[in-house]
Amino acid sequence: MNEISETVALLKALHFASIKHKDQRRKDIEASPYINHPIEVAELLARVGQVTDLVVLQSAILHDTIEDTQTTAEEIEALFGAEVRSVVLEVTDDRNLLKQERKRLQIEHAPHISTRAQMVKLADKISNVRAIEQTPPANWSLERRREYLDWTEQVVAGLRGCNSHLEQLYDQYLESGRAKLDSEGA
Ligand code: NDP
Ligand code: ZN
Repeated sequence: MNEISETVALLKALHFASIKHKDQRRKDIEASPYINHPIEVAELLARVGQVTDLVVLQSAILHDTIEDTQTTAEEIEALFGAEVRSVVLEVTDDRNLLKQERKRLQIEHAPHISTRAQMVKLADKISNVRAIEQTPPANWSLERRREYLDWTEQVVAGLRGCNSHLEQLYDQYLESGRAKLDSEGA
């Protein structure tokens, strides 16, 4: 695929995700537009992770569509192909399971998913850990924010080896996030 086609394919994913997430908001006090998060995940992969693989970048933009909107895997495949469908499904939790079980399975599955899916999941965790420090969900206690950081650390342990640049950035955000919580608790 040439550069223009790749740009078109990426913008097509962004357009699709923006429509799917249009009525959703993040959990921060300002209730930021949901689409800011998938955009951040894709931007981290491209800028920090130096990822140019279109399947990874499209999957990043689409990573929460099946889990959090009415989108089906068939829809993703028809528009973006079988590889993107596969990566998005690999990073999609089974919503039929209880929250604690879903969180346990993320830790268990992380080492076994494809490298492409590992990179998307790692960038997703970077975005959320940054948010826990800078724009946390409204009404979360320090304890809950701490527990969340601890859980991401366990998931990320199973993703190591997929992209060293992203791993380094995750480590920095984890450290500064914990320092911020310590200072707020003081
Ligand atoms: P949730 O899954 O309810 O919320 C976290 C998820 O929300 C993120 O993974 C992210 O997912 C999304 N999100 C949206 N906006 C933000 C934002 N501004 N900042 C960060 N994430 C955002 O939380 P958990 O159930 O994971 O709770 C965290 C921990 O707290 C767990 O270990 C749980 O056991 C514990 N807990 C503690 C409670 C307490 O009162 N102490 C009560 C309940 C749970 P995505 O990228 O998919 O959008
Ligand atoms: Zn996400």
